[in-house]
Amino acid sequence: MFNKQEDRISSQQTIKQANSKLVFKLIDQHDGISRAQIANITKLSPTTISSLTEELLTKELVHEIGTKIVRSSGRRPILLDVNEKGACFICMDLQQRGYYLGIYNLKCQLISGQLYNLDNYDELGKSLVATSKQLLKKEKISKDKLLGIAIGAPGIIDESHKRVLSSTIIPITENNLFYEQLIKNFPLCQIELVNESSLAAYAEIVFVNEIRHLRNLLYIDIHTGIGAGIIIDGNIYRGPHNLAGEFGHISIDIRGPLCKCGAKGCLEMLSSIPAINKKLPKYTLQEIQSRYDELYMDVTVVVNKSAKYLAYGINNAVNLLNPEAVIIGGQITIFGQKYLSEVIKVFKEISLGQNKDLPILLSQVEGNAVTLGGARYLLDRILIR
Ligand SMILES: [Zn+2]
Repeated sequence: MFNKQEDRISSQQTIKQANSKLVFKLIDQHDGISRAQIANITKLSPTTISSLTEELLTKELVHEIGTKIVRSSGRRPILLDVNEKGACFICMDLQQRGYYLGIYNLKCQLISGQLYNLDNYDELGKSLVATSKQLLKKEKISKDKLLGIAIGAPGIIDESHKRVLSSTIIPITENNLFYEQLIKNFPLCQIELVNESSLAAYAEIVFVNEIRHLRNLLYIDIHTGIGAGIIIDGNIYRGPHNLAGEFGHISIDIRGPLCKCGAKGCLEMLSSIPAINKKLPKYTLQEIQSRYDELYMDVTVVVNKSAKYLAYGINNAVNLLNPEAVIIGGQITIFGQKYLSEVIKVFKEISLGQNKDLPILLSQVEGNAVTLGGARYLLDRILIR
């Protein structure tokens, strides 16, 4: 039997929660906004706004930042802003030989971050817990200020069960209990495990001025492997089994080299950093980069071929998804604008109609894009959406 009173209370709580998120979102979007402005935009009553902002102030998620100078005489309204010190997020980027871990404040600004080596990936959970605690202590942040933890991982992820199912980059198995160890030590936290390319894509569309007005983006992450982050209507898209964005396994040449996935001529076999290294074994990546800059023929042929294959891969994805922009990120960006120009040149030759004018850009996020994207992802999921 339904309990009408309980139903009513729970729906009132849902409405209150949604309104509170709306108020926080507006405060986050403005550099100082008054209660009256919030009431005006939301069409909620001044009393409701007053009570919602009071609650956010009590939780220290927002603070008052003084008054606004207005032309008309009368009382100057007090402005509200996000209190960057009110809470924090810990974000991790799992890498081949360890991980990068950063603490971000409520404005998604990096407080402190560091790269940690890991000799044994089975120790991941233990190490993540220990470094998180150390960093909180070092920055004198109490544990109750930690709202969420985001982990960006390369590979196929079961996001609902917080498992990395498989990865060609990190030596991790489905049985790795790092999530359990984190939740045991940080039980009040929201912990999210997300594909690293998706988080990097999220950072790009949220923080890069040139593209932040866009809603649909294809982000291509090229390093040891090749992955893609797909943003559709402002949200990360991974598909029902978290398998969308396996861009490295789009086959470009069915007569090409055999890939570990079983197919031939996958983009990962043709355009990735190891694909370039394999063709130029006598040089380090730095040497390849400087020889590419200096127009040495042997290197130019190989690197431009990687760009050409990539352009074909981008064209396939663009024909399917029709994004508003394509971003190329990851280690490949060491080849800079010259590599990008080569990609664009080939893309223009093979793309359809209006797609020829599609912006294809290098990643512009500074610092670790995965953890920055993770911080914003947590902020949006916990306090805004
Ligand atoms: Zn493959």
